[in-house]
Amino acid sequence: MDEDQESELSSEIPSVDSLVNDLTSQMARFQLLQVPTKKPPGLTQEALDCLHVKVFSSSETSSESRALQDCGICLESFTDGDKLIHLQCGHKFHSACLDPWIRSCGDCPFCRRCIVVNSQSPSIK
Ligand SMILES: [Zn+2]
Ligand SMILES: [Zn+2]
Repeated sequence: MDEDQESELSSEIPSVDSLVNDLTSQMARFQLLQVPTKKPPGLTQEALDCLHVKVFSSSETSSESRALQDCGICLESFTDGDKLIHLQCGHKFHSACLDPWIRSCGDCPFCRRCIVVNSQSPSIK
């Protein structure tokens, strides 16, 4: 009897299909969490140039909380001499790590805040 029911079920509802459906909905949920509503466009090279880049120095930042002393992308701790990009939201990332990210996605990888670049520098090109 049990065998009968099982074969009936599997023919009606293909298990692979439901599995895929489940995965897709999970991924959709995940993406919803990651990308709230709209995805800001990536930054241009010009905008990248306007970002606040600073070389990390442990003596300078020793007063800051430990949480702010590692990169949210590669999860490595900052070390002296690392080139960091400081975002308006207060998060910092290796410029090498953040660069490819913000070229395709103009928000903070950590808190998803939009990266607003005010091109105040009157650079003549
Ligand atoms: Zn990094
Ligand atoms: Zn942030």
